[in-house]
Amino acid sequence: MSIKRILVTGGAGFLGSHLCDRLVDAGHDVICLDNFFTSQKSNVAHLLGRANFELIRHDVTHPMYLEVDEIYNLACPAAPGHYQYNPIKTMKTSVMGAINVLGMAKRCRAKVLQASTSEVYGDPDVHPQPEDYRGSVNPIGPRACYDEGKRAAETLFFDYHRKNGVNIRVARIFNTYGPRMHPFDGRVVSNFIRQALAGSDITIFGDGLQTRSFCYVDDLISGLIALMEGSDDFVGPVNLGNPHEFTIRRLAEQVLEQVGGASRLVKKDLPEDDPKQRCPDIGLAAARLGWRPRVDLREGLAKTIAWFRAIDIADYRAPTPNY
Ligand code: NAD
Ligand code: UDP
Repeated sequence: MSIKRILVTGGAGFLGSHLCDRLVDAGHDVICLDNFFTSQKSNVAHLLGRANFELIRHDVTHPMYLEVDEIYNLACPAAPGHYQYNPIKTMKTSVMGAINVLGMAKRCRAKVLQASTSEVYGDPDVHPQPEDYRGSVNPIGPRACYDEGKRAAETLFFDYHRKNGVNIRVARIFNTYGPRMHPFDGRVVSNFIRQALAGSDITIFGDGLQTRSFCYVDDLISGLIALMEGSDDFVGPVNLGNPHEFTIRRLAEQVLEQVGGASRLVKKDLPEDDPKQRCPDIGLAAARLGWRPRVDLREGLAKTIAWFRAIDIADYRAPTPNY
């Protein structure tokens, strides 16, 4: 294997820290760049002593000058409460961050992967969602800063590819969960586990009949690396996620069953523009990358619950008041 210099923006976050683990263990020279908006150094503290790992505090909305062979662009708040806290900054992070990493990729002739999202499909009226579905996004709603920011970033990636020959990859990531999710990110898996462990009410937004499908983090990271390392004639966009779909109410019951305890399920208002259903069509990833998820929900939840039990929640600061 050839050792590559690899930049991971957003590398201290939930997905980014697992990706850094994998790349460092594979022997690559890894630069983790993060402004720590929604993460903390503890996610990568165990890597700090490794000779092939380097940590840079930087904001991707400002240019970066590094010499690298590959870039994974993950920097962006991902949980609704975080990306809605400062929506203008969220849009800047997606768009200016994309311009900055693409400019660097063009200069260094680096390969660059964009962490896009199932949110580009909005509240979908095609189900499950294949890559050629163009989506149903409200461009002026509270989720638009994230959804439209990610859509604009995809546009920039494909224009740099077509016009400047930049070697790109675009992954559309569906809901992913696992250890190192921020306990106060407000996302459903982290909320339900934190609430169940504390014995407090489990908050179901709306009737709980909206669906999602959840991919365990290890599977997702394997998909990202397979896409980056795959053939240059397959740039995506490609869906990466677990097609096992169920309702949010079912997820609450499953978490309660695995954590135990006496929490009650309580209903809260459904947030505006909350998608009613979401499930990836992963036929393309299976055919072109030979990738499919392997960890089922029970096993993934067990690992995630074990991590939440092991952390001291007092070590975590809520990044925004919106959790
Ligand atoms: P996360 O919030 O844990 O990680 C994002 C990281 O980016 C954090 O460390 C944060 O501090 C950093 N960051 C934010 N703004 C930045 C900026 N301006 N400059 C530098 N760093 C910045 O979220 P995550 O779940 O790990 O998501 C990682 C990426 O994957 C995001 O781009 C997200 O949109 C995408 N994604 C994640 C999911 C998921 O379910 N986890 C689903 C779809 C897409
Ligand atoms: N949700 C919920 N209770 C919570 C947090 C979220 O019922 O405490 C719901 C939310 O309304 C959505 C789903 O769970 O329908 C997934 O929410 P999340 O924020 O994790 O991700 P999304 O897929 O909406 O971006």
